[in-house]
Amino acid sequence: MTAILGAGVSGLSAAYYALQNAKMIPIVIYEATNRVGGWVHSIKLPDGTIFEQGPRTIRPSGEGGKNTLELMEQLQLSDKIVPILNSDPAARCRLIYTDDQLHLLPNSLKGIIKKNTLLNRSLLSVVWNDLRAPKVVHDDESIYNFAKRRLGEDVADKLVSSIVVGVCAGDPHKISAKSFMTSLFEAEQEHGSIVKGVIAKALKRGKNTKVKDKENNIEIKEQSDNTQKSLKERARKEMWSIWTMREGIEQLPKSLATDITDRGVSIKMGHKCEQLKFNKDTVELNVNGEVKEYSHIISSLPAKNLANLVQAQHPELANELKDIPTVTVGIVNLQFPKDVLPMNAFGVLIPPREERPILGVIFDSCVVPQKSDATVLTVMMGGAWFEKYFGQCSSDEHLLTVAVNQVREILHIQEDPIAFNVSILKDCIPQHIVGHMQRLTRIRNYISTHKIPLGLCGSSYQGVGLNDVILSAKQAVSDINSHIL
Ligand SMILES: Cc1cc2nc3c(=O)[nH]c(=O)nc-3n(C[C@H](O)[C@H](O)[C@H](O)COP(=O)(O)OP(=O)(O)OC[C@H]3O[C@@H](n4cnc5c(N)ncnc54)[C@H](O)[C@@H]3O)c2cc1C
Repeated sequence: MTAILGAGVSGLSAAYYALQNAKMIPIVIYEATNRVGGWVHSIKLPDGTIFEQGPRTIRPSGEGGKNTLELMEQLQLSDKIVPILNSDPAARCRLIYTDDQLHLLPNSLKGIIKKNTLLNRSLLSVVWNDLRAPKVVHDDESIYNFAKRRLGEDVADKLVSSIVVGVCAGDPHKISAKSFMTSLFEAEQEHGSIVKGVIAKALKRGKNTKVKDKENNIEIKEQSDNTQKSLKERARKEMWSIWTMREGIEQLPKSLATDITDRGVSIKMGHKCEQLKFNKDTVELNVNGEVKEYSHIISSLPAKNLANLVQAQHPELANELKDIPTVTVGIVNLQFPKDVLPMNAFGVLIPPREERPILGVIFDSCVVPQKSDATVLTVMMGGAWFEKYFGQCSSDEHLLTVAVNQVREILHIQEDPIAFNVSILKDCIPQHIVGHMQRLTRIRNYISTHKIPLGLCGSSYQGVGLNDVILSAKQAVSDINSHIL
């Protein structure tokens, strides 16, 4: 009998994967609020426009990307996907605002060779920086230090800091290079430079692909032309950069919830887990003042929330979990009646050196074209600097005013929005700070040496994106399975 804590995407995915093992059934999910989806929240306006409060785009590449596409197929959601191809402006054009102007990131070979306005030098000179910089052996360091050491202070300040802000709303001086850019960090440790490491990996991948292609050749030839291509194959052949969903990303958790409840999973809404007690063969859950017993648990809660539940029995584990901090993000969605954007692009990021209260603006109407000429934008605010700019109890009105003013200054949009939505997402993004991987190892070792029947998934651990949390749910189920055996 399995209890899963939390009905965000990772908790629902954990139930989906747990259904594949009869020993884990029956399955109950406890969710503190009255809705499924967690941070995934799509708001539909009367004219059909979607305001996304949380995630809006997903990468098709990598193990996690392919796994999510498989899940989409299994849930029969393939026809709801909107792919954004590598050649689309929303994939090719990404802007950074610094030094009082918008800079387009280089997106062609010519752009790589030519001096760009962001760095006032070419990307080739950045490569040269990396090739000359001495290797430094490190267990981990901040992403800022790593980028500054290898690529130069300008790249760390303007480019890498903007990317960190865009992905996790975090402070690049605190975020772990080993967690955030694992393969680039390892490239230096193994090959002495990022560039050399990337080339070595590409050559190895090329060799492996050739061998695989040879092995698969007969199978591929045997497939009839009528065979439907899998989504991951389509994504590769059609060169998807990212994808989204026409009616909003919330369709994914909603479909997951329908699928698992149809197959017998019980989702208990408004049920907040308050304490966990692990006995020799069972786990006691204190939920809404009642005690329930299960054979094992999967927690998809933010690490800080789980820490409170295990504090009494396992204070050492609780302290490690508490040391994974989170940041708060303000989200302001805006709709304008006509095309008001300076150019077709994914959006603009603003590095922390600008000392502005906003992290960036996503041009939603460029990513998913609208029925009318309307422009839809999402302004992301605060993150690691939320308190600095907004204090502890900022009002929605204040956030809206700041967002509209910033958009005016940066994008020169003079019109007033015709529709908006403001949300303050408290503690929404876990921060994988320096030493995160080592902390994860200590957490996993503690759980296994104490034989605790607890699986962990969600954005506090392996990565903060949707692909990461879905994959982490699959892994948590497999961890529990090996515990059962
Ligand atoms: C503003 C924003 C933008 C993002 N953009 C993207 C993007 O474009 N692409 C992308 O891939 N990812 C993006 N992400 C990340 C993505 O949204 C998250 O990784 C994902 O939603 C996390 O899901 P989860 O299930 O792990 O956690 P959550 O969504 O946090 O779910 C946890 C659930 O547990 C419940 N809960 C908490 N405590 C208890 C308790 N004690 N008992 C019972 N239930 C409890 C909560 O109510 C919640 O429903 C974004 C995130 C944010 C915040």
